[in-house]
Amino acid sequence: MEDRKEKGGRRRKKGETARCHCCGGEFPFCWTCRCGFAICQDCLEENFWGMSCNGITWYCPDCERTNGLGNQ
Ligand SMILES: [Zn+2]
Ligand SMILES: [Zn+2]
Repeated sequence: MEDRKEKGGRRRKKGETARCHCCGGEFPFCWTCRCGFAICQDCLEENFWGMSCNGITWYCPDCERTNGLGNQ
């Protein structure tokens, strides 16, 4: 990926990013739980061993719900 940093013309729409509760970064997409917990793709993959046991759902560390992976 070469376009990690966009120079100039960076558009930021409010409400289109989510803050990852794990690394604190803002991302256009985060996995979110109904309790408000959000985690980015990178952190989810890093913590996959602890957050998903089957690759179909991930486990929210905040409220202990399971959430679906994949298309929602
Ligand atoms: Zn993260
Ligand atoms: Zn939750």
